[in-house]
Amino acid sequence: MQGESVLVAGLIEACRVTIAANRDHLCELDREIGDGDHGTNMQRGCEAVSAEEKDLARLPLPDALEKIGLTLVMNIGGAAGPLYGTLLMEMGRKLRNRDREEEFPVVLKQAIDAVARRGRAHAGDKTLLDVLYPVHDALAQRSPLTDVARRAELSADLTAPMKAMRGRASYLGDRSIGHVDPGASSCALLTTAICRYLQE
Ligand code: ADP
Ligand code: MG
Ligand code: MG
Repeated sequence: MQGESVLVAGLIEACRVTIAANRDHLCELDREIGDGDHGTNMQRGCEAVSAEEKDLARLPLPDALEKIGLTLVMNIGGAAGPLYGTLLMEMGRKLRNRDREEEFPVVLKQAIDAVARRGRAHAGDKTLLDVLYPVHDALAQRSPLTDVARRAELSADLTAPMKAMRGRASYLGDRSIGHVDPGASSCALLTTAICRYLQE
């Protein structure tokens, strides 16, 4: 358990730092096709999780993930809060209840599917799912972590030509085309930070 709590603390800090460093950029992306708050929303969520780090470190990994998810729902707000929250809460639940032989990518896939159900969104709708699914694919193919991170970043870029079908950006219709989705971008940043931390 000691190892897990150090891992959780390190990952929380890595995520907090990358979101803080990219807050303005994420707001800028959201100003193009949304309401300009994605960076501040994500920063609020990450700060709230960081504030709970000591409590989280005492919990077994599934419980910690579930608690992080709940904190994200309550603090990110907007559309992204319930979606990132569902991802973490479901990862915690699935991890707790998984069959022994089920590996992490299987758990992740179930959590991503729960996010898709929650947002009534699919791949190609120009959301964070357009990063989550490729990240899952890369992990399931046992790609090295540098490749997983690169795949996440490329996938975020690939949301630019998409037309938004869900969330605020969908109100713009064709005018959403040509802009990177802010949620996809935050998801790629977080993936890269996590991969980098795990490699060290
Ligand atoms: P809000 O749009 O409420 O201001 P944010 O700006 O924090 O919330 O988050 C916007 C991001 O949330 C979008 O860029 C998109 O990736 C994601 N998103 C919005 N609605 C959905 C949905 N229904 N399904 C999946 N992702 C969504
Ligand atoms: Mg917004
Ligand atoms: Mg908003």
